[in-house]
Amino acid sequence: MSVLPILIWPDPRLSEVCAPVGEIGENIRSLADDMLETMYDAQGRGLAAPQVGVLARLFVMDASWKDGVRAPSVCIDPKILETSDETTGVEEGCLSIPGIATEVMRPAALRLAWTTLEGERVIARLDGAQARIAFHEIDHLDGVVTLDRLSPKARAEAEAQYASA
Ligand code: ZN
Repeated sequence: MSVLPILIWPDPRLSEVCAPVGEIGENIRSLADDMLETMYDAQGRGLAAPQVGVLARLFVMDASWKDGVRAPSVCIDPKILETSDETTGVEEGCLSIPGIATEVMRPAALRLAWTTLEGERVIARLDGAQARIAFHEIDHLDGVVTLDRLSPKARAEAEAQYASA
């Protein structure tokens, strides 16, 4: 396992729509291991493949490790099946946009399908921090970052803060 360099916004690779993974080979297993190590090393709770320069639909997350419980997930080819009507606004950081946090509105919960590293297709309802992380990481797979979710005014303020961070 190794810690990979994390791309920093506005690297153009962070604005690309990623391609499906499909069949899971040794390269994907090795990438997922490295992404988890990279995420823990960077003190993050989620990391998407494009953030390490791989334009594939895959992300890793662990919503609880900072509370002392390691529970890593690898989500391959995720598909949002349903989102809650209720939305919440939470301050989000991003390992690719270091030094700033921005309040992003998102649905409070979702039903998500994904393929595990073992090749099993699973469906689960996610809420709380897990939902927040999943939405954030799936945005990365579509070339969308937190700044793209802000009003023009909030975005201008966030970009000014980022430039001086
Ligand atoms: Zn991010």
